[in-house]
Amino acid sequence: MIAPIVKEPNPLLHQKAVDVQKITLEIQKLVDTMIETMHAAEGVGLAANQIGSSWNILVASADGKRGKELVLINPAIRKRRGRDLSPEGCLSVPGVSSEVLRSAQVTAAGLTRKGETITVEANGLLAKILQHEVDHLQGHLFLYRLGLLKRRRLLQKYLSLADTLNRVRV
Ligand SMILES: [Zn+2]
Repeated sequence: MIAPIVKEPNPLLHQKAVDVQKITLEIQKLVDTMIETMHAAEGVGLAANQIGSSWNILVASADGKRGKELVLINPAIRKRRGRDLSPEGCLSVPGVSSEVLRSAQVTAAGLTRKGETITVEANGLLAKILQHEVDHLQGHLFLYRLGLLKRRRLLQKYLSLADTLNRVRV
C-alpha cells in the first residue's frame, strides 16, 4: 500500500514519536507501507510521522534497491563522528532544499522488522538519511537545523509554492 505523505504545516511533523513496545502484524504492515511509499515518492528515507503514524520507525534506502531497505524501529544514534555539509531536501517540504550540517558518520541502533536488535555503522548518504529521519521522529524538520533567517526564508518560499499548487488543483 502507498500512503499519502504528510506535508508541512501539519502538527504530526512536530510531534515526538512513540516507541514501539511490541512488533505486531500491524507494525510490520506499517513498515511495508512506509517502504512502498518511500520508493513511490522516489525518496531515500521516510519516518512514520510522514505518513501520519506516531510510531518511532524509520526506513532508508540509500541506493534505492528494492528488498535492501534498512528498517529501524525505535532508532537511536549512539555515536557521531566528523562533519558533513551537503544539500538536503524533504518529502514533507517539497520544492525547497538547503545545505545542512550533519555528522559525517554515525552509529545507529534499533530493531529490525522482525524485532531483532541491530547496530548500523553509516557514512555518506546513509548517515545523512539516518540523521534526517531521526530528527523527523523527534518532531524536527531539516529546516530546524538552519539559522533562523534561512529557515524563515525557505518556509516562506515553500508556503508560497504550496499555495500555488493548491490553487492549480482547485
Ligand atoms: Zn524529511
